[in-house]
Amino acid sequence: MKGSSCRCGFKTISVRKRCPRCGKLIRPEEWPDEGRVLSHSSLGVVPNGLDKPYDLVLVGIDKGPKLLCWSSLPVKVEDLVDINSKNGVYFCSPKQPSSQIRG
Ligand SMILES: [Zn+2]
Repeated sequence: MKGSSCRCGFKTISVRKRCPRCGKLIRPEEWPDEGRVLSHSSLGVVPNGLDKPYDLVLVGIDKGPKLLCWSSLPVKVEDLVDINSKNGVYFCSPKQPSSQIRG
């Protein structure tokens, strides 16, 4: 997915021209569409425009930014998840369990 990163260390999943932290020009980045669950909240709420309960999951992309995703499936901290975006909203789903995932 597209994003931006700055030399000051600021990383984001939105495409920007200037860093909101230091004000310098920042460069576009292509982040992987996967990450690891950092934390999650079992909200069980039905977001606008969706038809089933979702939980809010904080996902950290390797060497990239953190982002909040909705998940309709249960996740655990440290799970690897696939990230999808739809209409500017991010969703994640657990990857198929694999015996040997190293990161
Ligand atoms: Zn910066």
